[in-house]
Amino acid sequence: MTILVTGGAGYIGSHTCVELLKTSYDIIILDNISNSKKESVDRIKELGGRDLKFYEGDILDRATLDGIFTENKVDAVIHFAALKAVGESTQIPLTYYDNNVSGTINLCKAMAAAGCKKIVFSSSATVYGSENISPLREDMPLGKATNPYGTTKMFIEQILQDIYTADNSWSISLLRYFNTVGAHKSGRIGENPNGEPNNLMPYITQVAVGKRPFLTVHGSNYDTPDGTGVRDYIHVVDLAMGHISALDKVLQSPGLDIYNLGTGKGYSVLDVIAAFEKASGVKINYKIAERRTGDIATCYADPGKAFEQLGWKAVRGIDEMCEDSWRWQSQNPEGY
Ligand code: NAD
Ligand code: UDP
Repeated sequence: MTILVTGGAGYIGSHTCVELLKTSYDIIILDNISNSKKESVDRIKELGGRDLKFYEGDILDRATLDGIFTENKVDAVIHFAALKAVGESTQIPLTYYDNNVSGTINLCKAMAAAGCKKIVFSSSATVYGSENISPLREDMPLGKATNPYGTTKMFIEQILQDIYTADNSWSISLLRYFNTVGAHKSGRIGENPNGEPNNLMPYITQVAVGKRPFLTVHGSNYDTPDGTGVRDYIHVVDLAMGHISALDKVLQSPGLDIYNLGTGKGYSVLDVIAAFEKASGVKINYKIAERRTGDIATCYADPGKAFEQLGWKAVRGIDEMCEDSWRWQSQNPEGY
């Protein structure tokens, strides 16, 4: 069977493609390389041990999509392609709505035209908003997103639900990711942010490698055990395996399912710094500062539904997440 992976050259997509190549699925990557490097595609092939098809193109370009569906018999799509920088989304919201929402609509139209109605979508824990109390469950009401990036994820979830309501021969999996960190054990692929990282782990690794002087800890007066924000960090290879479980289900029977992909455990910013220092042997300089706008105190998953229905659970702990993030960053200080 052949799987189209949009955004497959990116951080989570590249790790998922490596795991897909170890199964019997053939893969096609479509990526416009707006937030990734072509080098990652070569490394996916190297780690996966076999070939794949790569199209450099945009999900906003219907002709490109139609060409892919005509040239290949695509059985299902894993849809990672999106812009994901929260801060940037507040500066250029139209670009985010266009790329993420219009891009997904374009993709779904091309899929419907080709008779391919099976999709696994990258959603986010951000759809739970700030009011729901952790552990977060899939049946909780959606919250209000605090930025346009989060709103694109909510809109796309709604659009995919409406598509399924209108035509229940579709098979759709909405995967709500928690905080993805870590890298492939080889140190050959990993997260490669453009410019100053927004997220905690790449910031820590860049401080460790000497690219940044210190980490700013955003807030120390939250209602959490040590006052810093608590999140559910999940290893990217566990997340990749979750996609394969969701894909297997999507291919089996029509339906729409929503799954949290998280570990169910929360770690504070100071916990992550301590775990990273232990894993790397490098001291992380940090300064406590004000809270970051839009942040919440605590966010972690109830991952029970994915285990019950998909048989999937995360198995890699915080020490392994830190070791693997560090191996990637120290072996590739400038990224790809
Ligand atoms: P990433 O930026 O590394 O990967 C996204 C890929 O999509 C990039 O390679 C980029 O070049 C490509 N892309 C973007 N717009 C495109 C377009 N119009 N056409 C073709 N390709 C396009 O990001 P990631 O961290 O791997 O995230 C993958 C998905 O998971 C995204 O949808 C993101 O919103 C979602 N997500 C990520 C996290 C996280 O912690 N990283 C958490 C929740 C959700
Ligand atoms: N954080 C921090 N300094 C940074 C980046 C993040 O203190 O430079 C904190 C942030 O306030 C939150 C946690 O680390 O409590 C995770 O933030 P991240 O941006 O990685 O993910 P989010 O949960 O916001 O999507």
